[in-house]
Amino acid sequence: MSDAVILGMPTVRETRVPTRAGKQYFVRTMGCQMNEHDSERIAGLLDLDGMVPAESIETADVVVVNTCTIRENADQRLYGYLGSLKALKDVRPDMRIAVGGCSAQKERDIIRDRAAWVDVVFGTHNTHRVLDLLDHADEWGPITEVLEETTSVEMTASALPAHRATDHSAWVTITIGCNNSCTFCIVPIVRGAEISRRPGDVIREVANLAADGVTEVTLLGQNVNSYGRDLDIDGRKPLFADLLRRVGEVDGIRRIRYTSPHPKDIREDVMIAMAETQSVCEQLHLPLQSGSARILAAMHRGYTPERYMAKLAMARAIVADLTVSTDIIVGFPGETDDDFDATMDVVRAARFDSAFTFQYSPRPGTPAAEMEYTITPDVMKRRFDQLAREQDAITFQHNRERVGRTLEVMVEGPSKREPEVASTRTRGNRLVHVAGVFEPGSYLPVEITRAAPHYLEGVVSS
Ligand code: SF4
Repeated sequence: MSDAVILGMPTVRETRVPTRAGKQYFVRTMGCQMNEHDSERIAGLLDLDGMVPAESIETADVVVVNTCTIRENADQRLYGYLGSLKALKDVRPDMRIAVGGCSAQKERDIIRDRAAWVDVVFGTHNTHRVLDLLDHADEWGPITEVLEETTSVEMTASALPAHRATDHSAWVTITIGCNNSCTFCIVPIVRGAEISRRPGDVIREVANLAADGVTEVTLLGQNVNSYGRDLDIDGRKPLFADLLRRVGEVDGIRRIRYTSPHPKDIREDVMIAMAETQSVCEQLHLPLQSGSARILAAMHRGYTPERYMAKLAMARAIVADLTVSTDIIVGFPGETDDDFDATMDVVRAARFDSAFTFQYSPRPGTPAAEMEYTITPDVMKRRFDQLAREQDAITFQHNRERVGRTLEVMVEGPSKREPEVASTRTRGNRLVHVAGVFEPGSYLPVEITRAAPHYLEGVVSS
C-alpha cells in the first residue's frame, strides 16, 4: 500500500457537536514527554467540546489526571492526588474526574477500589474516547475502558486536536509502544508493542503544525531507531533517517529534535541524516543506564559499555558540535561498588553535556522487581551524590566552553524569576538567559557572556 495521505476521512474535530460549552477543565500530567503530549491532546478534545481551561482546579467541572507508573512513588503520588480530589468532589458532586495514562492502563481495578469517586478510568489506547466516556459517566455513572491493543494508531497517536503549551513548539508522536524488554521498565506492559505511524501521516501533521506557526518539532517514540520496522510502504520499510530528511523538507520548520534513540539500534544513517539536514538540531539523548557490562546484561539493554562508547564516538564524528545527554540508573539490583565505578568511568570518558540520574526503585510487574535487592539507602545515596557531583562538574565545564561563542537561540518566554530576562534555548537545548523582552518563538543570535553550572547567560549579538 502506498504512503499517500488518505483524504476525506472524518476527523474528531469534524464530527463532535460541543456539549459542555463554557464549562472548565483541568488536566494534571504526571510523567514523561509522551504523557505531556497525550495531555495536550486530551485538552484539545475538551476544547472541542466547548470547554475552557480552568484557572485553578477548584473551579474545574472536569478534572483529567494523566498518570505515570514508571517509578514506584508515582503511584503514591497518584493516590495522594486522588485523595485531594475527593475533598473537592464532596463539595461539588457534579465535578467529573477522569484518570488515564499508564497507571490507569495497568491498575484500573486498583484505582476503582481505592478511589471510588473517580468517574472515568481510561487506558493508554483510549485517549481519543475521553469525551464519549465523560458522556457515559454523565448519563450512566462511572465507567472503565481499557484496551490491550490499539485499533487505530492515528487515533492513539496524533490525529486528535491538541491544546499545545506553546504556539511555536510541538511534539509529534512517530511510534507508540515498545518491543524491547528492559527489565526495569513497565512501558512495554502498559503501552504495548511498538506501532509506527505512516510517514505520510507524520509529514502531514508536521506540515499542519508549520502552517499554524510552529517552527520547532520534537519527534517522540520509545525507541525512534526502530521506527518503520512494522510498516510496509510499497514493499519497503521506511527508516527513521528517511523520516528525519522528509520532516526537514517541511517549509517553516527550523528545528527538529527527537527522543529517544536506543544505543543498540542507533546507526550511521541517522547521524548522517542529522548532519545533512540543516533543521535537525545537533542534540542527541542517548540513554546509558549503567556503565557496567554485568548490570547492562541484567537490564537486558542489548549493548556493552564498549559498544555504547563506540556508538557515541560515531555520532560525535559525524555530527559536529553534538550535544549529548543521557539517563543513568543508580542502584539497580545487584549493583556492586565495582559496577558503580564502571559507570563513573564511562561518565568521565563520555563527558555528557548533561545527565538525568535516577535512584532505582522497583516497578511491580517488571522482571527487575523480582530480583534480590541488597543495596542499602546509605549506599544508594553515596553513589547517587557522587555521580551527581561528577556530572555537574562536567556540565559546568561544557558550559564554560561556550563563553564567547555566538549561538542561535529560540525564545521560550520571560524567565520565571525575572520578567525582564528571557529564557531561551540553543540548538543543543542549553538554557540561556538573555536580558530583554522578546517575542516567544523568535530566533536571536546571542553571544554567551557567562556560564553557570546549569545555564548560560548572553546578550543579543549585533
Ligand atoms: S527501550 Fe527499554 S527503557 Fe525504553 S521504553 Fe522500551 S523497554 Fe522501556
